[in-house]
Amino acid sequence: MAAGTVPAVTAPEVSVVIPIYNEAENLRDLVARVHEALAPRPGGFELICVDDGSRDGSDKLLVELAAERPWLKPVILARNYGQSTALQAGFERALGRYVATLDGDLQNDPLDLPALLDRLETDDSIDMISGWREHRQDRAISRRLPSRMANRLISWATKVELHDYGCALKVYRREIIERIHLYGELHRFIPSLAKEAGARIAEVPVRHHARTRGVSKYGIDRTFRVILDLLLIVFVLRYRQRPLHVFGGLGLSLATPGVLILAYLMALKILGEEIGHRPLLMAGTMLVLVGLQFIVAGLISEMLVRIYHEGGARPQYHVRSARMPADGSR
Ligand code: UDP
Ligand code: MG
Repeated sequence: MAAGTVPAVTAPEVSVVIPIYNEAENLRDLVARVHEALAPRPGGFELICVDDGSRDGSDKLLVELAAERPWLKPVILARNYGQSTALQAGFERALGRYVATLDGDLQNDPLDLPALLDRLETDDSIDMISGWREHRQDRAISRRLPSRMANRLISWATKVELHDYGCALKVYRREIIERIHLYGELHRFIPSLAKEAGARIAEVPVRHHARTRGVSKYGIDRTFRVILDLLLIVFVLRYRQRPLHVFGGLGLSLATPGVLILAYLMALKILGEEIGHRPLLMAGTMLVLVGLQFIVAGLISEMLVRIYHEGGARPQYHVRSARMPADGSR
């Protein structure tokens, strides 16, 4: 749905989006518990379960469950794309004023949703709430320790201080969802992306249960991928608008000493000294050449940024409130 679109009058107030990959054993309970949590609330809700190419019949079961539950809306993806893409597919279909996410394995507790939604509804000073698994029920060495390290690293690198980035249980105002776009493994960095999109984030402790049915879809290898992704995200978030500042800065700091060295050798030569095959000559030339390469890379990426923005692809900023509309009409 396009940014700023006002949901129809009949739209449910809350959209819950859950990515589902081989969770057939959990689906019935999941659907029942979300209903139990949200049915008593006025305003209505919808549950968008995005089947991410399951091979255990989750897709068929979802369709079957949806037959007698009008609020359950299955989205069946053509193949397994990964959690980020599944979430994005759900976000694009969400109609609610508030959007909630959680995992499909019942490790998050749908019964936490009402309290989070109430807080978001009544507290104007926040745009999203991220769950904090204070008592996380996962293995210590293979899961909790790497995730604690990743949390620290992400907090430090993206300047969004949360205890628990990885908690899937989150609630958002719809605008925030419209401003972020998830792909690859970006769901791990939602708070950073949301903050960049202007969201004010709160963190609230939530329950967490051990996975009792089905298996985790991730192993230890993801910790390493997360670190690589982190490099990318920090770079993208900080320098997306001015890549020349990074590449150019690096280029200048290499080329400048290079130029100085060459100037020095030139002076020696003018004074009649034989400079021959000095290692310094080599070093100076290398520094200048490599520095120039970086500067050129900076210019090229700067051009890409210009083309991107001039193409009007995505808004450059988001307004929280303004007395005047952007086009100047009143
Ligand atoms: N998931 C998905 N696509 C994938 C992998 C996972 O939609 O390729 C879903 C999965 O069904 C679950 C959520 O993402 O609802 C989190 O996965 P999991 O519980 O395996 O992760 P963990 O809790 O072990 O971090
Ligand atoms: Mg899980």
